[in-house]
This record gives sequence, C-alpha cells and structure tokens, in this order.
Amino acid sequence: MLVLVINCGSSSVKYDLIETKLEKGICKGIIERIGAVTSIIKHQPENGKTVKDTKAINNHSEALQEIMNYLLSPENQIVNSPSDIKAVGHRVVHGGEMFKDSVLIEDNVLEAIEQAIDLAPLHNPPNLKGIQAAQKYLPDVPHVAVFDTAFHHSLPAEAYLYGIPNRLYRRYKIRKYGFHGTSHYFVSRQFYKLTNKPVEETKVISCHLGNGASIAAIKGGKSIDTSMGFTPLSGLVMGTRCGDIDPSILFYLVEKEELPLNNLHALLNRHSGLLGLSGYAADMRDLIAEAKNGDRRCQQAIDVFCYKVKQHIGSYMASMNGCDAILFTAGIGENSPLIRSKSLANLNFMGIEIDEEKNNAVKSGVLTKISTDDSPVAVYVVPTNEELVIAIDAAKIAQASAQSPWI
Ligand code: AMP
Repeated sequence: MLVLVINCGSSSVKYDLIETKLEKGICKGIIERIGAVTSIIKHQPENGKTVKDTKAINNHSEALQEIMNYLLSPENQIVNSPSDIKAVGHRVVHGGEMFKDSVLIEDNVLEAIEQAIDLAPLHNPPNLKGIQAAQKYLPDVPHVAVFDTAFHHSLPAEAYLYGIPNRLYRRYKIRKYGFHGTSHYFVSRQFYKLTNKPVEETKVISCHLGNGASIAAIKGGKSIDTSMGFTPLSGLVMGTRCGDIDPSILFYLVEKEELPLNNLHALLNRHSGLLGLSGYAADMRDLIAEAKNGDRRCQQAIDVFCYKVKQHIGSYMASMNGCDAILFTAGIGENSPLIRSKSLANLNFMGIEIDEEKNNAVKSGVLTKISTDDSPVAVYVVPTNEELVIAIDAAKIAQASAQSPWI
C-alpha cells in the first residue's frame, strides 16, 4: 500500500512516500523555514535526482500543496493520481494518557490531540496544522495519527509517577509520558529478529541519540522506563535541551535574573544542552571537531553528554536486572564511534565490552554488532526508521477501516 508519512515541526514539513508491502521508500523530502522570506525545499526521489529549491512558503498548507504538486507532476513520474495514495500517516508527538495506539483520525481524535496541546505546546500545534493541511489535499483517504508517546504506555506507575502530590497527577495528568516511541519500538524489533530468545524473555536498552535524545528500557517487548518525561525536555543532555536538572534552579534563576517564564522556557529548550555547555554548537560533529582542536568547553559538553548516557544505561540495567543488548540509533548513535565508545567505557563489570575495531568500522545505514564475541551484553548499531513504523501502522489501520462496516 502506498502511504504518505507527514512529520510537521513549527517551521518544517518532512514527508516520506513509502510502499509498505515492500517496506520501500519511493520519495522523501523536507520543506524548512516555513514562514521565513525564503523557504528551503528538498525532494529526494528513490529513482531520480535530488531537487533543491528556494521560494516563499507561508504556512503548512502551502507546504503540503508544494509536496503534492511535486509528487503528482507528470514530469517526476512518482504518483499518477492522488487516489494512488491509500493512507496518510501523521507523526503526533503527544497523545497524553488517551492514546495507547495509533488511531484513525476522526473529529473526536482531532479534539483530543487539541486537548493535549497543553502537554506539548511546541509540538502538537504544528502536528495538527499538518493533519488539517493534508486532509485538504487528500480528503478521500484515511488519515492516521501515530503517537511518539504510545509505546511508553506500558510504563508501570513506579516509573511514571513523580514524587509530587498525587492529586496533581489525577487533576492535571502530570506524569512521565516518554517520547521517540516509534524509534525505540523499531530498533528493538530489529534486535528480536537477530536473537533466538523469545521476545517475552528479552531485556533491551535502546539509546536514541540524535539532536533530541532518549533512552528506553524495554523488557519482554514493552517499554518499562524511559529518560524523557512529562515533556521531551528531561533526561539526557540534548542538542539545545537541558535534560534533567534540579527544579530549584528555576526558582533561583527567576530570582537572580528576573527572567519571565517564557524566557526560562527558551533558556532550557533552545539555549541549553550541548549548545549551552559548549557556548559553540548544538551539533555533535562540530563539537567533536573543535574538541580535537583543543577546545575545553566543547570537550566538556561531550563528556557530560556521554556521562548521562552511561548513567541511564546503568540505571536501566538495575531496573531490569541486567540486559541482553544495548542498541544505538539516530544521528549520533548511528554515526559516532567516539560517543558510543565513551558512553560504554569501563562498564565491563556489567558485562559490556566493545570491540573498538568493529565500532570504528560501522558503515552508515548498516545494522552492525560492535561488542566483542565474549561480551555477555551484545551492543549493536541499528539504523532507525520511524517513518516505516508510521507507514505500516497507517496501512494497517486504513485497511481495517476499509473493511469495517461501522466506518
Ligand atoms: P538526528 O536528530 O537523529 O538527525 O541527529 C542529529 C545529530 O547527529 C547532530 O548532533 C549531528 O551532529 C549528529 N551526527 C550526525 N553524523 C554524525 C557523525 N558522523 N559524528 C557525530 N555526530 C553525528
């Protein structure tokens, strides 16, 4: 089934056209800087040459129109008619407590995603805009919402409750939700294909280390803990997000710098993390290059990042009483031997031993084992594919809805 996957940020729309039966990408692309004077457009057909362009794209609806025009243009020979696209899968960041699985988007679902805006003010509004725009250009196909939070619905109360008055959980649903669920789901499933153990007996730690970063403890196929929390701000140090900090720092800062709340929000979300620590860059490649040139702050930022990864791995080993495999994925996890090696250094007492030769030889996009043959815990680099998970879920739900006499 041909499925269009849409992933909207506040000023960007990413898309992937996927043939789900063959698990094959047909065309993908991104429109960035939506609303700026010039937006950047990129289309990458699987069997054709990449097209880059710039023009003014004012909103998400115009971005969707641009994408549809490209896909439907007879010149590009990608899709003959809109009816060839049988479903649209939308990445939705926050599903709150309501959505434990992907769902067909109907009016009540849109309302519920709107209600979850309170919980994800940065992410859910552009996700909604993307849904509305795609429904305008593809009104006759099923649209499906796939939630970043859904995979973590299996967290036990001891992992998702914070140590605050329980009435705040009951009244406002303040709890750990967790994110990057489709990625943790995908890479753990790739590992299950490699092991003879029944899934129910497996224990996996999945490290999604990208610009946003999170780690999940996955026991018996289910997420039992994860580093992000009520929002994607907590846990590891990220590109520009602070990760876990002592909440008292906020009161202290408000007093010392007389910061209004929205500045505090920007400080922790956009000016912290690797960028804040190094004072130089949020991008790990830039930090590694500068650290090699002797920049002390860039080196410190890398050290802090790896230390937090190591701490989380240790704590999830404790939560699960050991683990069978540690999986590294996303931009940093898939591409940086240095960060993988530093994050797992001196963990041989836990049965984790990296083979540095294998670690350094990992090829981009190739699933690779990087632990020694004797290492009790296996370590793999697993390329993630969140878009494929979204496409397959959308295809399943679209098929079921076509067969249901009730819809
Ligand atoms: P993502 O958000 O998954 O696209 O990951 C983006 C992050 O991956 C950025 O911090 C990049 O610098 C980092 N990254 C990509 N390639 C490499 C590499 N070869 N070495 C280190 N970091 C990398």
